[in-house]
Amino acid sequence: MGCWPHGLSVVFRVRVRGDHGSPCRNGFCSRVQRKRRMGNWFHNVITAVYTVARGMLITLRYWLITYKDGRGTFTHQFEYPEKPVPVAARYRGFHRYDLTTCISCDQCAKACPVDCIYIGKERVENGKGFKITGFSIDYSKCMFCALCVEPCPVDCIFMGATHDLSCYSRDGCIVDFSRLPVDVSWGRATLNPTAVAASKVLSEPVHGGPNQ
Ligand code: SF4
Ligand code: SF4
Repeated sequence: MGCWPHGLSVVFRVRVRGDHGSPCRNGFCSRVQRKRRMGNWFHNVITAVYTVARGMLITLRYWLITYKDGRGTFTHQFEYPEKPVPVAARYRGFHRYDLTTCISCDQCAKACPVDCIYIGKERVENGKGFKITGFSIDYSKCMFCALCVEPCPVDCIFMGATHDLSCYSRDGCIVDFSRLPVDVSWGRATLNPTAVAASKVLSEPVHGGPNQ
């Protein structure tokens, strides 16, 4: 059972919890117990003031840093969409695909856990292997896991750095890489909605592939 410190009970009506061990008798504390409780109370007040002041100093320091020369008032500034936003070196964005080396072995499509890679191919006449007639990825299903990248025997598919491929219809989410210019489909961050829209009107792949 606790009690009110004699000097504070009227003014603050705050019940001070001390570590005095034995409870007060009949609601009254001894002089030593009251002193100990007062000491605890002041210690708590000082700790609280110190903690708040320390937190505010950190806030103040970071606020002042934003006004340093060259830093500006914002933490980051990007000239998006005129310039692409920088991403981490191993960022997994929309794919890069090289039609000129793909041998249409289907390994990437088999590895895809959501079956969103569609490969069209025809056997090469008077020769070996296949030629690609289509290489589409449905980005309304792709989860950017990169499992399609690992099994490729000729390293012609990678995760790129493009993160923006906005479109107005679901058809815009399906990208046929074989209809894109090679520098767009293989460029690290050049896949863009305009190029994808232009690829929709092509009926033939832009390149015959390695077996033609
Ligand atoms: S990143 Fe994953 S989900 Fe997307 S196409 Fe590759 S394997 Fe399929
Ligand atoms: S991208 Fe690679 S794994 Fe996929 S079909 Fe072409 S060669 Fe095979």
